[in-house]
Parts: sequence; C-alpha cells; structure tokens
Amino acid sequence: ASLSYPVMPQMVSNEFPGRRAQEVIQRALQFQSPTRPSVKGRIVVESGYGAGIQDPDGNILIDLSAGVAVSNVGRNHPRVVAAIRDQAERLMHSAGLVNETTVALAERLSACMPEGLRGECFTWFGMSGSAATETAIKFAKAITGRSQIIAFEGAYHGVFHGSLALTTRENFREKFGPLMPGALHMPYAYCYRCFVDLKYPDCGVSCAKYLDYKLSTPNTGADDVAAVIVESMQADGGYIDPPVEFLQMLREICTRRGILLIIDEVQAGAGRTGKMWASEHFGVVPDMMTWAKGIGGDLPLSGVTVHKRYQDKLPLASQVITGAENALANVVALANLDILLDPQDNLIERAALFGAEIKAELAAIAADSAILDDVRGRGFFIGVELVADKATRKPLEPKRVGAILQRCEQLGVRIMACGRYGSTIRIMPPLTITKAHFREGLRRFAQAVSEVEH
Ligand code: PLP
Repeated sequence: ASLSYPVMPQMVSNEFPGRRAQEVIQRALQFQSPTRPSVKGRIVVESGYGAGIQDPDGNILIDLSAGVAVSNVGRNHPRVVAAIRDQAERLMHSAGLVNETTVALAERLSACMPEGLRGECFTWFGMSGSAATETAIKFAKAITGRSQIIAFEGAYHGVFHGSLALTTRENFREKFGPLMPGALHMPYAYCYRCFVDLKYPDCGVSCAKYLDYKLSTPNTGADDVAAVIVESMQADGGYIDPPVEFLQMLREICTRRGILLIIDEVQAGAGRTGKMWASEHFGVVPDMMTWAKGIGGDLPLSGVTVHKRYQDKLPLASQVITGAENALANVVALANLDILLDPQDNLIERAALFGAEIKAELAAIAADSAILDDVRGRGFFIGVELVADKATRKPLEPKRVGAILQRCEQLGVRIMACGRYGSTIRIMPPLTITKAHFREGLRRFAQAVSEVEH
C-alpha cells in the first residue's frame, strides 16, 4: 500500500514544552537540561500518518525517527487501525486469564525468531523495553544461579533499577541509586572511537578478547557472571554497526563459560536493519532476546523470548504483568508482523537496499562537509557522526548539535541525536516511507547542517 501525505515546509511555530506540559509531565524536566540541548524538542504532535507528524498549527513534519524507531510500519497504518477496531469490539484485555491473541502472537514470534531460537522458544510479555530488560536479568539469574550481569559502555537498556545499572551514562543514573549490584561494563566495539586506538583495525576482536581476559583472570571482579547483555547494533550509544567478529566471539565466550547471552533487539529489531533481527546479520543466536518498540509499534508491548532449554530452570512463580495480556497490543503486533513480512511490499528487503543507497548519498554529503563524518549502519538504522574536527574526531559541541536539530524542526523534518557525546545523528524512518519523502527529509537535514557549519 502506498502511503502518501502532503509535506508542508512551514516553520514550526509552537513552543515546546508548553507551560501545561512543564507543570504536569515528569519528562518535561529533561527539556530544561543544560547538558543535553540536543534533546530539546519543540514539537507537540497532534496526529500522525505514515512518516508524517502534524502539530496543532497544521505543520507537517517528515519523521525520520519513526517515534524513536517505534513506528516501523508508519503511524496509523490502515491495517493496524482496522485490527484495533475489530479487536476492540470483542476483547481488549484478559488480565489474569490467557487470551487467544497472546498465544497467537507467541506462536507467530516463535516462527520469526532467528534460526536456533525459531520454533524452540517461549515468550514472556511486558509493555516496555525496560521491563523486558529487568525480566531478562531476573531470568538469567534464576537460570544460572549466578548474580553478575555484564553490559557494555554506551549501552542503553532502559530506566528501571537493573537496566539503569547497565548504562554507563551518568546523566541517566545520577541520584537514582543504589542501583542493581553486580553490573559490570566492558568496551563495545565502537570502531570509530575505539578504546584501544582510533586507527586500530581489529577493534571487534580486541573488545571480545578483553572481555574474555576479564572473565578468566582472578580478582577482576567478574567471577559470578550470569549473563552478557548486548545490543546487536548499539542504538542510544551511537548507532553502531559492530564488526561481525565481535558478536560471534561474544557468543563463543558465553557458550564456553556457561554464561547466557541476552541480545537486546528493542531498537534494532523488527526489520529496521534490513533483517527481521539485527543479530541475523552476524549469525549469532542468543539464549534470550528482548524486543519491544517496532513489534508493538503504535501500542506498548515488549517481551523476552527464551530458548526452550531453559524452561525447566525457571522458578514456577508467576511473573505476569497485569496489563500484558492486552489483546489490542497483541493484534497490533500481529498486524505489524503481517505488514513487515508481506511478500508484496517486502519492506525489510526494501530497507536493506534503499538504506544502502541512502547511506551512499549521505557519505557523499559528508565528504563535502567539515562537520559530518562517519556514516554507518544497515537498512534504516543509519548513524552519522557530527564532529568539530575531522582529523581528531572531536565530537561536535552539544550547542551546535542542538542548533542543527532545532533548525531541522523548523525546516519540517524530525531527526534525533544519540551517542556518548550526543553527537551522533540517527536516521531511522518508518520502513514504509516513500523514497521521495526520505530524500526530502535528508535534503532538509543537509541544509540545517550546512547553515550551522557556515
Ligand atoms: N533497549 C534498547 C536498545 C532501547 O533502545 C530502549 C529504549 O530506547 C530500551 C531498551 C528501553 O525501552 P523502553 O523505552 O520501551 O522502556
């Protein structure tokens, strides 16, 4: 189905956060943060369709962030809306009781898991990526009888006590402690800013070897490790496409040491990278996978999908979340999977092919720019580094990143930043975006970059 909507390049005029938001929404506090001007958004969204979002003044923006990689099939997809209408008339939730939609979704997910999990797994359901992380941590501890969890520098797995302990971002953690004990951090293979040496060629191998060394050496603190949790492609930490060896070696190390490998597919999963799950690019099968965002799409849904071999090792105590038997969210997920896997539109393969074209076009723009540098990623999961100086790779100052993002909003395109220094631009539109709208969005982004650069 072709999705079209007008794009009006009007200036965004409404100020965000409005006074009402500041009074009553906790989230509004972050818009005042002096340390993260790049997240300062000004858009109030009133409606959305496809890759378009509209503010109360009638301005339509191209959303190259798909609501933080959530609306992978585009907002308010007609098949999703129809599924909600149809289900709403019959049953919306069955808290405390199983309903058919949950079983159907668990079966469907099992059928679309990477080979190695496919048909051999069971799923726990939740309503946010954060909840999925907490549950995966808990399951790993129960299954192994061990207590430590290894995560990576730059990782983001959510906002609860366990998941916050797994992030190295101080501004997320500060003042919320004490967080979960036993969280350890290792370097993620971020080749562009490799921890060893900017030009070191084997960053993936060295990061994995370093982890293995920490696990094998007494007195390094890693002596009771239940799981390694890793984003197949690191999202918030900078839209990083790690070398294949990195994840493959993690898999081998975990298997050899009886440690569970949890792969977090919350942001990179659901077709965005040109495969259903990003881990499939690396041929790595996790013991548990966490997923959320793009599977539930417009409604909140998450899950932990676990290999069957661990089923008997989990305690019998129920870990059900009251709201998770939500039939509306389940039918939306089923519709999303139908749309993503529809052989006629072939959205996932389209993302792989068109994403590669877009990456090449962005690289050409970067070659002519003094502040746009590395362009990387797969499919519609593309990261672009903004730097103050290409020779030293010094990140662009937060103020200038913020200026670019705000100019983008004025020009009618929604783009988000991420990364350890807030200086990585992440390009992650809905998979249904038209080629013309994608290119128009990037043209506006390039204009904003050029204006701030000069
Ligand atoms: N894991 C990853 C990789 C994420 O990107 C996010 C959110 O951005 C989460 C977990 C947490 O998900 P949620 O915001 O739904 O709690």
